Amino acid sequence: MTGRTHLIESLMERFPHIPREAVIKEDLLRGGMAFEDSALSDTTNEASGQVKPKSYFIFSFDHRTLPELGAAALRRPPEEIVLTGGPYELRRTVVSVRVNPASPYRVQAGPDGTLGLYLDGRRISDVGLPPMPDYYRETLPNGKSVMEVAPTIQWGYLVYLTVFRVCQYFGAKEECQYCDINHNWRQHKAAGRPYTGVKPVEEVLEALEIIDRYDTARASQAYTLTGGAITSKVAGLGEADFYGRYAQAIEERFPGRWIGKVVAQALPKADVQRFHDYGIRIYHPNFEVWDERLFQLYCPGKERYVGRAEWHRRILDSADVFGARNVIPNFVAGVEMATPDGFATVDEAIASTAEGLRFFMSHGIVPRFTTWCPEPTTPLGKLNPEGAPLEYHVRLLEVYRATLEEYGLASPPGYGPPGPGQAVFSVSSFMDSLPAAETEPEPEPVG
Ligand code: SF4
Repeated sequence: MTGRTHLIESLMERFPHIPREAVIKEDLLRGGMAFEDSALSDTTNEASGQVKPKSYFIFSFDHRTLPELGAAALRRPPEEIVLTGGPYELRRTVVSVRVNPASPYRVQAGPDGTLGLYLDGRRISDVGLPPMPDYYRETLPNGKSVMEVAPTIQWGYLVYLTVFRVCQYFGAKEECQYCDINHNWRQHKAAGRPYTGVKPVEEVLEALEIIDRYDTARASQAYTLTGGAITSKVAGLGEADFYGRYAQAIEERFPGRWIGKVVAQALPKADVQRFHDYGIRIYHPNFEVWDERLFQLYCPGKERYVGRAEWHRRILDSADVFGARNVIPNFVAGVEMATPDGFATVDEAIASTAEGLRFFMSHGIVPRFTTWCPEPTTPLGKLNPEGAPLEYHVRLLEVYRATLEEYGLASPPGYGPPGPGQAVFSVSSFMDSLPAAETEPEPEPVG
């Protein structure tokens, strides 16, 4: 048995209560996957293939830059893959695609022509690809693609509206040290790809109208409004009004069609109230990393403009507006172990993150996390191309579930169904690791 296979099997053995699906999914998310030519689409025209292509919906989420990826980027890889079967008898597991040509995980066609995931040369699961949605074949009146304006992820569940493609925290002294939003914008521009910096509200409505028309099965259930932080103004508006006016227009045009979510800074309560008044129902004021020293080092812009203590205070305050269950701050799981400043041991990193989970969950607020992808153009990604140890990610799933249960809380709303074999949340396996529920969690009614 070779190294990586031994690693995942030993963790499956040590943590039998963590779904095996989640162990493999975390390993794919932290280290990426490679695609053999046989697994890539035959076309560089993103709208004409059979497979839903990777949309680069906010960050690159790749382990190489576009020029380094070459054909693997031009012949677009899929947005996500779904794993089933194989020697570990995997239940249906949706995984976001992060391309890494050097990964020991390879997606390729087997001798019978069916796609599989191979680790260390052994087929460990079948691979399904997302079919091209009909709405991706349409264009807006100005010729822009629906994928560019309103891509869907999580197997079609979530419309991801990055309406501001850059961040006003700019440069080494302000950008979060794990974030490549600004680089990703530059590399798409350099490659001549359409990549709108600020999406006009009208375009968003046109794209949603196309999605709504074709999505008769109502696979899409939620939208996320997001983009870079706004420290001054964009289009003459501060952050709450800039992002909020999209929700206002969407809710006026499609009342209640989707659950409205916003990922934004932790804003003062009056601004948070404006988000809610605009029609948003779930607020993600991300806390990024719990440890005080690491927050100051990794999020220098947020530390300077707001400060960690105030950031946390605002997160708690926003529960008065949205209801605690509808405040879901994200953190970037794994950066706490990045060299040179992160924790040296998994024990310390888990203890720190658990403290943060307890802080929020004791107030009824359920954080969630995305698995850190060490993108090569970020300061932390450059120094830590392997990401965090897989053991950290597996133990995080364990402590997350235990803390949730300790406080009697359920999985957060707006993420689709929880449970192995059912989850669609693709950028971490926290939903795959929670018990399956009969019904999907709904946002809490407020006011
Ligand atoms: S606030 Fe930080 S994580 Fe968010 S877009 Fe800006 S640099 Fe990236």
